Amino acid sequence: MTYTPAADRYDRMIYRRCGKSGLKLPAVSFGLWHNFGEGTPHQIKREMCQTAFDHGITHFDLANNYGPPAGSAEEAFGEILRTDFAGYRDELIISSKAGYDMWEGPYGEWGSRKYLIASCDQSLDRLGVDYVDIFYSHRFDPETPLEETMGALDHIVKSGRALYVGISSYNSERTREAAAILKDLGTPCLIHQPAYNMLNRWVERDGLKETLQELGIGSIAFTPLAQGLLTKKYLGGIPEGSRAAQDSSLDADMITEEMIEALKGLNRIAEARGQTLAQMAVAWVLRNEGITTALIGASKPSQIEDCAGAVMNLEFSAAELEEIDTYASD
Ligand code: NDP
Repeated sequence: MTYTPAADRYDRMIYRRCGKSGLKLPAVSFGLWHNFGEGTPHQIKREMCQTAFDHGITHFDLANNYGPPAGSAEEAFGEILRTDFAGYRDELIISSKAGYDMWEGPYGEWGSRKYLIASCDQSLDRLGVDYVDIFYSHRFDPETPLEETMGALDHIVKSGRALYVGISSYNSERTREAAAILKDLGTPCLIHQPAYNMLNRWVERDGLKETLQELGIGSIAFTPLAQGLLTKKYLGGIPEGSRAAQDSSLDADMITEEMIEALKGLNRIAEARGQTLAQMAVAWVLRNEGITTALIGASKPSQIEDCAGAVMNLEFSAAELEEIDTYASD
């Protein structure tokens, strides 16, 4: 059936400026790391993307290696761009990345110019687009001069393959170096993509949040739900079909009795705020203006709808934040 986006989609979301750039991103963004590989029916992928867009989620985050197999998430999203989203390219912010293992041999991972530019071309092919909006260095490469990695990002922009560039999981020190190189090249660093949630606060310990604000760089926090832990999903144990039940990136050993008790405590706070636990977890990430957007994943459309609803209440009292810290820390 032909898809028509919800007419009121832009009233359902709020948009926040990405650092000091001209670009605004939805407070909730949607990532295609999980559930966009060949194991998920295409119809579910379509419904998730449609639900996201219907709720004003204009930003879709990909990487060369998302699947499995690697590349298949970009292919699936490319198909959606050609069908459901045909005619809406200018309303969408599409990102991709290179850094992790993608193809065999010495040129298929890390941060060389050879790898990044070839990988970007492959991503454009799979997506069926002339350019992506944001292209990232997915991880810092300790063996390649940062000038080379940043030079490749600059070339990717100047050659028209991407509009903006970003870096992912770089610490404060590396971020400062990368941002200075990019600035000199005339291609400012738009955005940083770090892991950040109530159970993983490395960006606070590292001072990254302050660094990004000082440099005028936006940020997109990935795994705001700690891969689903910070939802009601695990309150009664590990449900069938969940990420922790699969041989996947979320280690079932994390879901101890102690963890479940803590999640129940967090859930009580969320209920008192009139939110679901997932909504509170998203709001918690967004409570700091230095975090532009929370990058969620999902296995079904209703989860996206739930998370998008977080924008209805992003304010926390000092007492609420203190109580959250009694249940969640890293
Ligand atoms: P989340 O922390 O949002 O976890 C997503 C999972 O949480 C879903 O698959 C689902 O689990 C569960 N979930 C989501 N919403 C709800 C809800 N409302 N109620 C109950 N359960 C819910 O993020 P991800 O770990 O998926 O990561 C998000 C994105 O971040 C990725 O797609 C990717 O774009 C990016 N990322 C980037 C990385 C990087 O190195 N730059 C690394 C990792 C991720 P279930 O499947 O069990 O139903």
